[in-house]
Amino acid sequence: MDDPGDPWVPPTHILVREPTDASYVIPSWIEVGNRVIGVVATHLWAIDGVYELVSPELRRTTPTLQAIEPFVDHCGVSVPAVEARVRRALPRFTATLEVGWADLTIAAVRAETVSPTPWHRVDQSCAADSLTDYDAAIARTWGCNMCGRDPRTEFTPRFEAHRTGMRIDARIDLDITVAVCPSCHEILHQPLAPTASELMYGLRPPCPSCAARHADVVAVNHSDAPLPIGVTASSAPPDEVPDFHCGNCGHEW
Ligand SMILES: [Zn+2]
Ligand SMILES: [Zn+2]
Ligand SMILES: [Zn+2]
Repeated sequence: MDDPGDPWVPPTHILVREPTDASYVIPSWIEVGNRVIGVVATHLWAIDGVYELVSPELRRTTPTLQAIEPFVDHCGVSVPAVEARVRRALPRFTATLEVGWADLTIAAVRAETVSPTPWHRVDQSCAADSLTDYDAAIARTWGCNMCGRDPRTEFTPRFEAHRTGMRIDARIDLDITVAVCPSCHEILHQPLAPTASELMYGLRPPCPSCAARHADVVAVNHSDAPLPIGVTASSAPPDEVPDFHCGNCGHEW
């Protein structure tokens, strides 16, 4: 480091937060100008950004994290994908990376923002599931359980089974699987992914009465086909059936 031709590289630290935490707790020994790789403890672990600790702004008393290059978007970057590129495990706790390792890790984060590793190469969580007959029957009638993409077109995607983590009864159920199109499946496995409920309801309109995003599709169920999650049946005459039922306040529209 005494060689004047050797540029000073700021120390780079790993900070970890839970998905439910709004921000990182910054230890006092991390100094302004240091770099931070923000790691979120999702089930497969994700990086939500590369930051520099900057001086307190007006009206603030503590330094804050400011996102720097390479910028990570809302999807996050997969920790296992970064580890596969660097060929070394990243700490899952507050730690300081040695300079060469830090540079390699940040280069791998940059590569993942440009060309993300396909999710199924680092995430085996749905690999063991093929579509059940039940889910396949639903998909034939209702399409993708997330976006509703219609199966009755000539060039329909092949539906895939996604394990939602939801159980109707925790004592007796395995995780519920749903049939999803490959595009929705990719979203559900982004490093910082929405839950199946967040994606499905997020694609539907908010309730005009309470603004909640919990619109169940109301359908006249005149077949024996089972209903997917997010769809409720109505026995009202077809011309009186509303489009949606709010699962939050009960409003129908
Ligand atoms: Zn879909
Ligand atoms: Zn899946
Ligand atoms: Zn409502």
